Amino acid sequence: MSENHGGDGPAEHEHEHGLDHDSKSGTSASVDDPGVPVGERCQLLQPGDGGRWLVTTQGSTHIWDLDAWTYTRMPGAHSRSGAFVQDQVANPITRVERWPRVNKASLVWFNDATHPHYVEQWRQSSTIVSIERLPDRPPPRAPEIDEQGRVVVANGALGGVHPSGVCAENAWGCWIHRPLPHPLDHAPVYWREDKSTAERHCSHGIGHPDPQDSAYAWFVHGRDVTVHACDGCCRPGPAWLKDLW
Ligand SMILES: [Zn+2]
Ligand SMILES: [Zn+2]
Ligand SMILES: [Zn+2]
Repeated sequence: MSENHGGDGPAEHEHEHGLDHDSKSGTSASVDDPGVPVGERCQLLQPGDGGRWLVTTQGSTHIWDLDAWTYTRMPGAHSRSGAFVQDQVANPITRVERWPRVNKASLVWFNDATHPHYVEQWRQSSTIVSIERLPDRPPPRAPEIDEQGRVVVANGALGGVHPSGVCAENAWGCWIHRPLPHPLDHAPVYWREDKSTAERHCSHGIGHPDPQDSAYAWFVHGRDVTVHACDGCCRPGPAWLKDLW
């Protein structure tokens, strides 16, 4: 472990999870389920942990998504429902200098979601009061199909959509029949007639190309439809796309 630069003291004893005192090592690169049930609290997070966590400090709350490897600050909010999935921008974590631990401060580095290629930021929290496990992100839902077989989107209904068998072999799935997880997979879909693309509108009203529809446009038609004015809500790009693109 290298995340100990003048901080909270040595990390080598930080193995207990408060609840179950499991014995897993903190050096695994893979994502482990730390065994803490949803809604329960633990004393610390550590390298290799998976899951989504609500870290409450004296002044604010923070979501550490160790599956998606993102950090989201939720100033002042204290809702425990799944409703805050899109409320604030999830920033891709680049490194953790001090992992969250009750009664300590965390220090995390992340790429600025709006300027990910040239801005790296860090946040040191105030003293951590509690660390609570959140439900995993719900899986994406397929859009509704109406009686006429049209796909219901936020700005109307799409006719003439391909049958579900056509996209069955696509590595990028299909936003209609085989939705895959991505940051805006729960955001409403708007069909862009002018571009013949599906867009996801984030909670700030910005349209982002649906990554599955973008993959379809690129791999089937050689059309790059990904250029857009972005506020960061569609980032980080989904892991399944990185293997593909
Ligand atoms: Zn399909
Ligand atoms: Zn947004
Ligand atoms: Zn975007």
